[in-house]
Amino acid sequence: MPRNNNMMGHNKNFDIPKEMGAWVLNDPDNINIVKKPVPQPKEGEVLLKIDAVAICATDLEIISHGNPARIEGELPFNKNYSPGHEAMGRVVKLGEGVTEFKLGDRVAVEIHAGCGRCEMCRKGWYTSCLNYGFASKGHKANGFTTDGAFAEYMTNRTQTLVHVPDDMSDEEATLAVTAGTSMYTLDVMGGLFAGQTMVVTGPGPIGLCAVGVASALGAEVVLTGTRDNRLEIGKKLGANHVVNVKKQNPVEFVRDLTDGIGSHYVLECSGAANAINDASAMIRRGGKIGLAAFPSKPVEVDIANLVRNNAYIYATRGEGKSACHRAMALMAQKRFDAKLIHTHTFPMKDLQTGLKYTRERIEDAIKVVVRNDDRLI
Ligand SMILES: [Zn+2]
Ligand SMILES: [Zn+2]
Repeated sequence: MPRNNNMMGHNKNFDIPKEMGAWVLNDPDNINIVKKPVPQPKEGEVLLKIDAVAICATDLEIISHGNPARIEGELPFNKNYSPGHEAMGRVVKLGEGVTEFKLGDRVAVEIHAGCGRCEMCRKGWYTSCLNYGFASKGHKANGFTTDGAFAEYMTNRTQTLVHVPDDMSDEEATLAVTAGTSMYTLDVMGGLFAGQTMVVTGPGPIGLCAVGVASALGAEVVLTGTRDNRLEIGKKLGANHVVNVKKQNPVEFVRDLTDGIGSHYVLECSGAANAINDASAMIRRGGKIGLAAFPSKPVEVDIANLVRNNAYIYATRGEGKSACHRAMALMAQKRFDAKLIHTHTFPMKDLQTGLKYTRERIEDAIKVVVRNDDRLI
């Protein structure tokens, strides 16, 4: 069997150690590097050597407050748990029955595998699995409910892996999860946007990726935000119009653009307190609003206006329905340039610096990536 010979040869080449370095979360805002055994891939899983991981705002949230990470239903503090979930790497060991990937394949990693047996997983909505957080029931969401990617190795189920084209950098490949998150909301909102107007509010990583994806799908895209430099990146990703809300009223802009009728869609990625009311004022009757951001507090919503306008609201979590696979396909076809969102790279051992850059947006950081070029231990 040639594949087995190949496997053995590669296994030697990859020289997998018994122990690895991994960041773990102790008390809130306290992480450090520890030694852990290199995990072994189970049936239908592969072992990945992690090459690069993008830092996400959710990582900051988890490290400070625990949620939305859950280990067997509990907050993730002092559980020897490793965060990190926007990863790419190389397949270095195959679990039993894996034929979809071979040793050495470069792959990007979707976060959620889900339990595979609940009603939501059966529909492809595995990011909101009913057994979320219960690894004992088969749920796996790396960096949220099982060990994540701020480490040297991790195991993944094959359905969460996406091939990375040879000409794509490691850093760009880490953005497949972010682009997949945008794609999932757009997919749930309808997914066929050619010739229709799409407002994206908030030029963070998800909003900027949403501009790229919606533009690739043929929408006329309006991006709103408060920072001119990010709006400029949005233009390069395909936004037809940008509105700095500090200088111009975005609702008036959208209504003028659409002859007073309003936009077909608004994808809310800002988390701003009044964003949903602005979205409600921007859409046309029967328009659709997608919610992909987490406001920090409960917000007041003008429901009467939504009802009057027969509005539809879609709230999505993460990257369901294999959206990362399709987002990666658009990236591979160079339909938009996700590299524009990546701003900084640090070695994995300097994760704390990367987190600080992300939190404080030092040097206009958008997506900060940490790399494993050297051993962590
Ligand atoms: Zn993330
Ligand atoms: Zn499930």
